[in-house]
Amino acid sequence: MQLSRRRIRSRRVASLASVAVLTLAVSTSAGTGHLITGSTTPGPVAPAREALRACMIHGSSSVQMPEGIPTPAGYVRSTGTVHALNLMVDFSDAPGQGGAMDRFGEFFPQTRKWFTTSSYGRLDYRPEAPIQHWLRMPKPFSAYGLERGAPFDPGYRRLVQDIVAAADPEVDFRRYDLLNVLVTPNAGPSALDTVLSVTFAGNTDAPIADGVPLSNASFIYSRQDDGSGSYARTGYRVLPHENSHTFGLPDLYTQEGGAAVGHWDIMSEDWGADNDLLAWHKWKLGWLADSQVSCVSTRGTSEYTLTPLGLAGGRKLVFVPISSRAGFALELRTRAGNDATMCRPGILVYRVDADVDTGNGPITVHDAQPDSGGCTHSPNVQGEMSDATFLPGQSFTDPKTGIVVTVLDRDDSGNFRVRVTRR
Ligand SMILES: [Zn+2]
Repeated sequence: MQLSRRRIRSRRVASLASVAVLTLAVSTSAGTGHLITGSTTPGPVAPAREALRACMIHGSSSVQMPEGIPTPAGYVRSTGTVHALNLMVDFSDAPGQGGAMDRFGEFFPQTRKWFTTSSYGRLDYRPEAPIQHWLRMPKPFSAYGLERGAPFDPGYRRLVQDIVAAADPEVDFRRYDLLNVLVTPNAGPSALDTVLSVTFAGNTDAPIADGVPLSNASFIYSRQDDGSGSYARTGYRVLPHENSHTFGLPDLYTQEGGAAVGHWDIMSEDWGADNDLLAWHKWKLGWLADSQVSCVSTRGTSEYTLTPLGLAGGRKLVFVPISSRAGFALELRTRAGNDATMCRPGILVYRVDADVDTGNGPITVHDAQPDSGGCTHSPNVQGEMSDATFLPGQSFTDPKTGIVVTVLDRDDSGNFRVRVTRR
């Protein structure tokens, strides 16, 4: 069975309810949210960063989960070694089926590999499972009231407290940066009907374990299995999506579904074939060095060579700020790295708005072929936006600012040259 468009939409609305939960949790954030404190002190600003200052857009403080750079404190650091604690939990009314490590195996090693590939090795994500059996919760699943859009209080607080009580004899929570609760898939509704999976990020009001608050935790339910036979390859992808919230990334899908960004970022679509993150997100997470980013902040015409986002090295992002809060980004997407279904390799143009909150459309991809129907028919991939890229000879013009981007050519190595003009 393939997910119908209607299905995808209802799923997205379901998740948006979770977004409200998540932002609520974020709003309680103050100070560090790392399970292990430290490493949040900013160092001196390097010269390369100084040249990018005009492109480090940021939103107002009322935005809960902003696209701006730098990411506010409270989230998990997104470079270096990150230790993820995985606990597999079940309930008397939903006893674990099969082994707990089989559930772990639905997400690993794929999630670690996804992060290694997407970050070019800058994030060393270490999944750990110190308890290799199901952790039975003291109350039945139904008693926690964990429905779609359930807030942290009281259900999740009670669940986290019970998880801590059950795991504490065997787990030193201070050793970990984030928590994944891999719930037995038979607890709650099918993900085809309602996606319960949710992340509470930067929530310093969370229960304390071994002296640290469990501020950044992802809860994974059911299986993202559309029946197309791809579950073994793609079902894990809900976890890199949820964990990316713990690194501070917002949701890019909106109440209308995934049409704003399509399949160009896992924060827009985490069902279906593998996809990557936008270059903007990679810079925000510290996976692109400042030397791989060009900031077009002065008037005139300039040319840049972009290398494929899926391959390590070279320039990945050209950003044209239009205010202190928004701008246009350019990047080259090809079938490489985590991008598995690219059907029109080319330059992606999108607007980033740091003043727009998670789930409200902080990023909008500009479709180079509007109303074309797209070039992919992969299940669970937003079709229309799949051919959004610009090819040599095509131009993008923003009528409001007069910014013009022209794709000039593609060289023998597959790099693209672009010309940017701003008045
Ligand atoms: Zn999300």
